[in-house]
Amino acid sequence: MDSNALFLKRSDAAKRAVETRRLRNPDWGIRSAGHKYWQRMAVNYVRAAVAIGLLPSLSAGDIACVDCGRNAYCYDHRDYSMPLVVVPVCGSCNSKRGPAKCPTD
Ligand SMILES: [Zn+2]
Repeated sequence: MDSNALFLKRSDAAKRAVETRRLRNPDWGIRSAGHKYWQRMAVNYVRAAVAIGLLPSLSAGDIACVDCGRNAYCYDHRDYSMPLVVVPVCGSCNSKRGPAKCPTD
């Protein structure tokens, strides 16, 4: 298979993957231009809060996910304009919850 055919095959697979995700979650990929900025800002607030001891660190694995009870993997935001209003969640519950509300959405 030449490189152009391989490229076409991979881009078809990527398009199908996007369609599948949109079928499962119609909001997937629909975010404002500022979404990444607010997400990064909120993540930095949480990192700083963990560093100064305001929020407990999740790296020890002794904090439970609020949704399913497994080990929490990260803090989940529901609104990036409130960067310290977070709950500990595991990876799969975090993706089920979907993206947080953002001031520019
Ligand atoms: Zn969970």
